[in-house]
Amino acid sequence: MPATMKALRKTKAGKGLEMQAVPVPSIGPSDVLVRVKATSICGTDLHIYGWDRWSQGRIKPPVTLGHEFCGVVERVGEEVAAVKPGDFVSAEMHVNCGHCHQCRMGEAHICQNVRVIGIDQDGAFAEFVKIPATNIWRLDPAIPEHYGAILDPLGNAVHTVLAGAIAGHTALVTGCGPIGLMSIAVAKACDSSTVFATETNDHRRSMAKQMGADVVLNPAEGDAVKKILEATGGTGVDVLLEMSGNATAIQQGFKALRAGGRASLLGIPTENVPLDLVNDVIFKGATVQGIYGRRMYQTWVQMTALLKAGRVNLEPLFGERVVLEKFEEAFAKLQSGLAGKILMYPNGMPK
Ligand code: NAD
Ligand code: ZN
Repeated sequence: MPATMKALRKTKAGKGLEMQAVPVPSIGPSDVLVRVKATSICGTDLHIYGWDRWSQGRIKPPVTLGHEFCGVVERVGEEVAAVKPGDFVSAEMHVNCGHCHQCRMGEAHICQNVRVIGIDQDGAFAEFVKIPATNIWRLDPAIPEHYGAILDPLGNAVHTVLAGAIAGHTALVTGCGPIGLMSIAVAKACDSSTVFATETNDHRRSMAKQMGADVVLNPAEGDAVKKILEATGGTGVDVLLEMSGNATAIQQGFKALRAGGRASLLGIPTENVPLDLVNDVIFKGATVQGIYGRRMYQTWVQMTALLKAGRVNLEPLFGERVVLEKFEEAFAKLQSGLAGKILMYPNGMPK
């Protein structure tokens, strides 16, 4: 076991990231040390790389980034019984306190004191990562490791799609970034009758088709709401899955929602968004849900079942695969908006 490892870190306030040699984390009695196989870059990592306003308020350098990963258990603390060295695992990277009101109510995903591994403490862009045993998720070895590395965003998609009825229901996905694209695949896998998708980026619209969307619209060309209303006999969609965080997309989503429909909002707007509450929520009798993270651990159970059943094909999403040292290349590619999910390998490329 080496004493040090390479890690991709935010070392100081400002743009960029740095590869450093740091000590391999030492683990406590209830922790698990995982040797990282594959790790994936999230939109949040891009924000932290670019050092936007949100990052400046939240990130306390130095910290190792990375919260989407899978790997093999290297070592466990003496109190850990549920996993053992050699197990193939991923993890829920939101660590809840267990004591606050929401945790006591069985709503750990909205814990008041949540800490995120890879944001508030050292994460998985490294050869090894330390995780509390409570948050480790054992993976069926049949799940391919490139899928294992993106369970965090897939969990966001599964949480949103399954936050209400979906089978036999029409759905609209607004915004086809990685999570919107995954939501299309999950909604189809869960028997949504027709999935509409809106997206302004040409490349991502073609990805939406590949992921199984039935109708893909460019809201910058023509009236997307009118087209959705026409296609649903004037009724609107049963379910809005908001995956863009864009004000116009959110407003259009509510206009395209049927009376009595469900709006599940995952996308995070940077400003307040004006809504016509009277006509688009109250008179419609709409159900509006904020969606955060993944339910612990209902979402993980549902996601695993869908993957094991082979119902969700995410292959079109995967882009480049690089060793961790080539992170600059990977981040630049993602910034271009053309790449899907880029995987980085801290312990060498898979055979
Ligand atoms: P992303 O930024 O890659 O995707 C957003 C997509 O929306 C982009 O493809 C963009 O072109 C598209 N878009 C922008 N304006 C649009 C418009 N007017 N109409 C239709 N599409 C439009 O983000 P992502 O990584 O896929 O994540 C999706 C959203 O979810 C982001 O806002 C992200 O911050 C948020 N998020 C929330 C949680 C949570 O727990 N609530 C977790 C992860 C991510
Ligand atoms: Zn809590």
